[in-house]
Amino acid sequence: MTVRLRPTLTTLPAYVPGRSVPGAIKLASNETSLGPLPHVVRRITEVAGEANRYPDSFATELGSALAARFGVDPTQVVVGCGSVSLCQQLVLATAGEGDEVLFAWRSFEAYPIITTIDGATGVKVPLREDVHDLTAMAEAITDRTRLVFVCNPNNPTGTAVREAELRAFLDRVPPQVVIVLDEAYREYVIDPEVVDATTLLADYPNLIVLRTFSKAYGLAGLRVGYGIAADATLSNAVRQTQVPFAVTQIAQAAALACLEPPAEKELRQRVEDVTVERIRVTDELRAIGYAVPDSQANFVWLGNGPAEQGGIDALAFSTGCEDRGVIVRAFADSGVRVTVGLREENDAFLAAARALRARPV
Ligand code: PMP
Repeated sequence: MTVRLRPTLTTLPAYVPGRSVPGAIKLASNETSLGPLPHVVRRITEVAGEANRYPDSFATELGSALAARFGVDPTQVVVGCGSVSLCQQLVLATAGEGDEVLFAWRSFEAYPIITTIDGATGVKVPLREDVHDLTAMAEAITDRTRLVFVCNPNNPTGTAVREAELRAFLDRVPPQVVIVLDEAYREYVIDPEVVDATTLLADYPNLIVLRTFSKAYGLAGLRVGYGIAADATLSNAVRQTQVPFAVTQIAQAAALACLEPPAEKELRQRVEDVTVERIRVTDELRAIGYAVPDSQANFVWLGNGPAEQGGIDALAFSTGCEDRGVIVRAFADSGVRVTVGLREENDAFLAAARALRARPV
């Protein structure tokens, strides 16, 4: 083939999705194990009959519902084809060749990919003991920095930074640099000191908070996320970078149905079940001998390292889990992320973890 492709593609890291293996328990993609609530499924079915029409490109009704919920103007809200799309749109809107996009590492693996696709330069600031090193991140800002991602809680370590530390960092970010607080897992936070970043919008005009319907709301397959910007200049810029009709009417209707008070109540119960399980899984893993950082998300992290210090070998551990019917997500160079599922799913994982510790891999 003689087609000319962009040279950056040769250096592009691949996004490795969590694998699905028929018959196995999948704890690899931070999904909800239960399907959407029955009335959400009904709404999806109803709207499917309108699939001959294009959707509302700007998801006006959903945007207004979210604006009302967060007490902001609808112009500050932007809906996207998953929050990963909004991450990409933000990079497109702010950075180009020669510009820098700053994020912690390891963090959400899409950040370096979308930055590279865009032609900008990704600057990775290493985590400190599995947590964002916000001091080092502030020091890494240069006059080329256009955007900073802070993933809170962080994927894949589950750790979260607290309000005082976050504010101290935000105070140091120059006002022309866009700060993206990626709160894909916000609903699972129980530590009261981990601030809901939407409450910071009034103080930081360069802030946008991203959330998703993929996790706590259980709509990963429909692809719908949203951003709330402190200033409509930013949300409008994100809208400009959207491909037309990015979010289907089915996704918009399902998201709206999830926001209805009875549905929200049930979904909150599901979230609570996960947070209770997260604590149980963490405690049990520690009792077995694994080092597990405190997680505020719907997953836990086991880092690579010597077994005597509670560490694992990511590939051997994930293969060992898979042999026992549980699919987890391995990051070969750093560790394994395990989604907290239903109690029986977690029991299957814990049994695998116990067996692997008894007979180190
Ligand atoms: N941000 C983080 C930190 C994530 O982990 C994910 C999903 N893995 C996303 C954003 C994107 O979620 P979605 O596109 O499904 O909304």
